[in-house]
Amino acid sequence: MKVAEVFYSIQGEGKLMGVPSVFVRVSGCNLRCVWCDTPYASWQPEGEDRPLEWIVEQVRQYPARHVVLTGGEPMIMPEIGSLCSRLKSQGYHLTMETAATVYQPVEIDLASLSPKLANSTPWEKEGGRFASAHEKNRLNVPVIQRFIDQSPEIQLKFVIARPDDMEEIQSLLSQLTGWSASDVLLMPEGTDAQTLRTRALWISDLCRQTGYRYCPRLHVELYGNRRGV
Ligand code: SF4
Repeated sequence: MKVAEVFYSIQGEGKLMGVPSVFVRVSGCNLRCVWCDTPYASWQPEGEDRPLEWIVEQVRQYPARHVVLTGGEPMIMPEIGSLCSRLKSQGYHLTMETAATVYQPVEIDLASLSPKLANSTPWEKEGGRFASAHEKNRLNVPVIQRFIDQSPEIQLKFVIARPDDMEEIQSLLSQLTGWSASDVLLMPEGTDAQTLRTRALWISDLCRQTGYRYCPRLHVELYGNRRGV
């Protein structure tokens, strides 16, 4: 499996924010979000092909019991199910971070689903060469529903760039069942402290109106927009 990095940090986003975790970042993605904060795992995928044993050994070097599988898009990796099973057999708590466009059975504890909104489509970037494919593939309602139905726990994490993104979120949620307001997280798009702070104000207003949760990006606040943190 192509791996961009394995590192130990604290979970900066979502229901497990603050929990020390090992992050396994696979390299390669079927989407091309214009604001992707890990382009080295999507637009220009870096890293080397690694055997599953190597990945498990890297994880075992750290004292954490929580592992986050992230990317890129882990769910497009043919061996992701085997990796999850190996890590689960060693007692790890697994979070799967995915855009939820592709499903395969995986043994996990938390499905962190991050469906991509229209604000993610790269109409201008690189002459728009990925825009049509991204637009066609970014939302897959049956796959999101399958994750909700098959996972022990879920969160639905939306990256918000403008207030009218809420319309698309509400429309998507109305097509899904089996979630509650406390599963829905609204996270500001941005990788610098000033943008995050400005957006936090109107996003927290939206949370008050809807009952959804505000989702900070703690790792960016603590360490800045850097790799391996
Ligand atoms: S789905 Fe995630 S990794 Fe892929 S391009 Fe979008 S933000 Fe980047």
